[in-house]
Amino acid sequence: MANDPISQVNTGLFIDGQWGPAASGRTFDVINPATEEVLAQVADGNGDDARRAIEVAGQKQAEWGRTPPRERSEILRRAYDLVIERTDELAAIMTAEMGKPLAEARGEVAYGAEFLRWFSEEAVRIGGDVTLTGDGKTRIMVTHEPVGPCVLITPWNFPLAMGTRKIGPAIAAGCTMVFKPAELTPLTSLALAGILTEAGLPGGVLNVVTTTDPGSVVEPWMASGIARKVSFTGSTPVGVKLLQQASEHVMKSSMELGGNAPFIVFADADLDKAVAGAMVAKMRNMGEACTAANRLYVEAPVAEEFAKKLSEQMGALKVGDGAAEGTQVGPLVERKALDKVQQFVEEAVSRGATVMCGGDAPEGKGFFYNPTVLSNVDPDSALLANEIFGPVAPVVPFDTEEEAVELANGTAWGLVGYLFTSDVQRAFRVGERIEAGMVGLNTGLVSNPVAPFGGVKASGLGREGGRIGIDEFLETKYFALPRD
Ligand code: NAD
Repeated sequence: MANDPISQVNTGLFIDGQWGPAASGRTFDVINPATEEVLAQVADGNGDDARRAIEVAGQKQAEWGRTPPRERSEILRRAYDLVIERTDELAAIMTAEMGKPLAEARGEVAYGAEFLRWFSEEAVRIGGDVTLTGDGKTRIMVTHEPVGPCVLITPWNFPLAMGTRKIGPAIAAGCTMVFKPAELTPLTSLALAGILTEAGLPGGVLNVVTTTDPGSVVEPWMASGIARKVSFTGSTPVGVKLLQQASEHVMKSSMELGGNAPFIVFADADLDKAVAGAMVAKMRNMGEACTAANRLYVEAPVAEEFAKKLSEQMGALKVGDGAAEGTQVGPLVERKALDKVQQFVEEAVSRGATVMCGGDAPEGKGFFYNPTVLSNVDPDSALLANEIFGPVAPVVPFDTEEEAVELANGTAWGLVGYLFTSDVQRAFRVGERIEAGMVGLNTGLVSNPVAPFGGVKASGLGREGGRIGIDEFLETKYFALPRD
């Protein structure tokens, strides 16, 4: 059954409103990480395809930028309705290509669709400002225009939402786009391109190039001089490379990069709520989230009890094919990801960590890893300094508030921090000192289309979603007119 919606997906490149093969004629396999079976073959684009796509985006920009905001708004609104209507199909595609359990995939459809609805509402609210200069002699009229053709690049971990979080505001603002989805999960993005076309998006506004060689497609876009904006979600090293490329043509840049989230539990917290929060912050998407709790710092008097309660819940989760009823933890996305998680755990254990649950991979096909809680983790363990991107929770005790803040900030990243305490003064006192773009207070979930998502330090530049989300796709201009 899960294969049915996949057979409906157009697996070509989507350029100028037409589906077609890659210039090279090549395709690549998309693999189901639960079964290791090939799901589909997708066009493998190269530099020639990329150049064609960016030229189309450049040609269409002026006309698309002038469309009435209401028209763009209604395309987005229709796309929202279609995505919601096709929840089951899209969820099945996502589960098959990425691994997350169906229930989570349905949750992502709702979350991802919400960006289309939110930005359909924003499209008609792009305002401006009128003011006088201080001496009263000149009127200043501030307007906002589409920034121009955009390069959009997304990761594999949220195949739908990472796309709609960029495409939604780009359409709302009146920008054309070239879009390169992750090579591990292209099918959801291709299905989305089909839905947007059905919703009335004119040909050439959104151009999609899938590839196994991201550099060969993205570099021509960045070097083209046509693209005015790059919006990237992915790892910090690739983001840094793109910023270097963006500097050549001084492109506006949004970077949603990696994280290494601290999850701090004070002894005064409601421990059961903290454990429930950790389950969400750690286990959403099998731990394959930039927002995943990566380091769990727990005040010493309650650290043991917290680790015990967390391991009881993590250890009871049902691991299996995400498409099977009742599965709570799907496979990791690929063999390489599984190997990395295994190495992190082995290294931490070799430094003296105690395995409270899990610590190994189940036998058989698929890239599964059992949910793992580690206590007594040595502070120099590699998994505290890197994104684990898997279902592994290292618990580290701390003694003072000062120490908790120092530990939390002792990383190059700054995407999100989580704090659990029943003392509201402490919540803000510590929260204000956390170097991150987002702070979850007594909650393990911060992602929401209404909120400005993004990080500081090596976690990125700019924000996605919220009222300011559309600003990333707009340029400001003012007119000065003397009052005579
Ligand atoms: P990745 O950086 O390897 O890949 C992301 C995208 O960049 C993919 O589409 C990939 O094909 C492309 N890419 C790779 N090399 C490129 C190059 N040289 N030029 C242009 N594009 C290139 O990351 P990933 O493994 O797909 O995703 C996981 C990472 O994404 C993690 O670090 C995670 O924290 C981060 N992430 C961040 C957010 C956020 O909002 N901050 C959200 C989700 C994921």
